[in-house]
Amino acid sequence: MNINADNVNKLAWEKMQGLIPCMVQDAESGRLLMQGYMNPEALQRTLDSGKITFYSRSKERQWTKGETTGHTLQLVSLTADCDQDAILALAHPQGPTCHLGNECCWEPEQQPIASELIELERTIAARKAALAEGNPGASYTATLLSDGIRRCAQKVGEEGVEVALAAVAQDDNALLNESADLLYHLLVVLHARDLTLTDVVNTLRERR
Ligand code: AMP
Ligand code: ZN
Ligand code: ZN
Ligand code: ZN
Repeated sequence: MNINADNVNKLAWEKMQGLIPCMVQDAESGRLLMQGYMNPEALQRTLDSGKITFYSRSKERQWTKGETTGHTLQLVSLTADCDQDAILALAHPQGPTCHLGNECCWEPEQQPIASELIELERTIAARKAALAEGNPGASYTATLLSDGIRRCAQKVGEEGVEVALAAVAQDDNALLNESADLLYHLLVVLHARDLTLTDVVNTLRERR
């Protein structure tokens, strides 16, 4: 059930004694970011403000994630499970979600494998944005992008050949490393052309 202002009272508040657990998932990568509890007021505030708001049992009050750090969770959607006693929120995180400074409250190894590529793509997009603002810093990605499309394209060609050579040489370690190089440089060349992994996946979908 998609949760909106009209059906907040349909949730199993009584059974859950007023607090329903809410899992927050990154809307793009599918990473599980954090878990908290919502009461009806926190849920209403989430819907009204578009920022995920919990009821904090330790603070004993409404708590909008990011209220002090600015690392808010911008609401994309809220759904209830089959018996309305659990909430799944999809969100766009504005910075690291975990108070320990990590992207999320669970280890990367416990996250969906494909989310790693999306995180890498985010890093590349951030480097590109920093370059556009005139502060590339000491970033290899920014250097590559500022060298232009020919350089980015050349790297994809080189890494592609290195992947092929490692495969023929039956060197698994080299094949894995060159494949990682190729995936990274492929993402860079796409971003150099203002394209994304989503565009590539959409092309794959059309072929299904
Ligand atoms: P924030 O909501 O990001 O402004 O952080 C304010 C405070 O909330 C932090 O100092 C932590 O005590 C707590 N906090 C923030 N993020 C989390 C989290 N993911 N899980 C548990 N507590 C958190
Ligand atoms: Zn349930
Ligand atoms: Zn955490
Ligand atoms: Zn290589």
